[in-house]
This record gives sequence, C-alpha cells and structure tokens, in this order.
Amino acid sequence: MGKILELREYAKEHHVPIMQDAGIEFICNYIKEHNVKKVLEIGSAIGYSAICFASVKDDIYVTTIERNTDLYNEAINNIKDMQLEKRITIINEDALTCEITGNYDLIFIDAAKSQYIKFFEKYKNNLSENGVIITDNLSFHGMVEDISLTHNRNTRQLVGKIKDYIAFLKNNEEFNTTFYQLGDGISVSKRKPKS
Ligand code: SAH
Ligand code: MG
Repeated sequence: MGKILELREYAKEHHVPIMQDAGIEFICNYIKEHNVKKVLEIGSAIGYSAICFASVKDDIYVTTIERNTDLYNEAINNIKDMQLEKRITIINEDALTCEITGNYDLIFIDAAKSQYIKFFEKYKNNLSENGVIITDNLSFHGMVEDISLTHNRNTRQLVGKIKDYIAFLKNNEEFNTTFYQLGDGISVSKRKPKS
C-alpha cells in the first residue's frame, strides 16, 4: 500500500515516533486472528497505526485519541486521504481526562510513557470481556534492559516509569500479561479467567 509506506517515510523524516514494523505487524496479525472489530488507541500521532489497523479488514472500527492539535490535524488529513473517515474516529483531547463510552476488543496504549499505569487503569473499563490491552515501547530503545544507554535524568526517569508499569502488569491481580521482545517491546494483557 503506497500511502502507508509514504506515511512511514514522512514519520522518519519528521521524527514522529510511529510504531516499528515488527510491532505493527504483530498487532495487525492479532486483529486478524482474533477477529477484533473495535480498537481504541491512546496516542494517534499522524494516524499511521490507526490507518494500519483499519486497513486489516473493512469491518474494523478504530477510535483514537491525540492531544496535540497539529498532529491531530495531520492525522485527520491522512485518514481522509485513505478514505477511512467512516471507520476511524479521532478525538483531539487529553486521554487522561477524555470520556470514552462503549467497549473495545483491543485497547492500544501508545502515548506518554510516564502515564501508562493511569491509561491502563482508566481504559480497562472500556475493555470488552475477552478484550486485550496492548502497550508499546516497553523496551524504550533498549534502555529498560540497559540503563547505561540513557544519557540524561529525564530519560532515566521515564525508564523508571516504564519499569514501574512492567512491575504493575506482572503483579496485576486482574490481568495476565505476556511480554514480547518485538519492535520496541510490546505487552499483551488479558483478564484472568474468573475462578
Ligand atoms: N500510535 C502512533 C504513534 C503515537 S506517538 C503510531 O504508531 O502511528 C505518541 C503520541 O501520543 C504523540 O503524538 C503524543 O502527542 C500523544 N500523547 C501523549 N500523551 C497523550 C495524552 N495524555 N493524551 C493524548 N495523546 C497523548
Ligand atoms: Mg510507540
């Protein structure tokens, strides 16, 4: 698909942190194999991943939240270019305060890394019974595994936040999580079966 490749190139040139190829492939396969129909995404940027998800099949609907208005406007244009405006709804708000109703089969967290626990706690209420929450960037360019790769205090703090989130997932009483060393590190969290 030409336009998707174009978006990928654009993101690279303009340093927009879109998902890596292996990560996007993983989620698109997940959508296909598990018959996912409704996706909620936290962090749209220019709409690249939302467009990839909606392009898997023509009965998939994506709602995506982006707080940055410039990126939101770019995403709107890209979604129109792809003629996906009927199946991708983009909301220009802060996901921490935004009100979302309805349930989703897949919730994808790909926004501010320092807020992952908050996003998870808030949006698990919008997860359908057998739904999954997938999170990106748990490796953060390898820095989570090797802290010596960080070069400033800000980045070190973010790495700490990601480690807190990983611990939160590992110790979660409600969800089981599998971690994948794919792309920039991905987790897949499902509700534990009721006992
Ligand atoms: N999912 C996109 C990339 C998202 S990059 C893709 O793969 O194509 C992360 C985005 O999250 C940035 O554009 C940033 O502006 C947005 N973001 C960060 N914190 C947010 C918040 N609290 N609410 C909404 N968007 C947020
Ligand atoms: Mg990401």
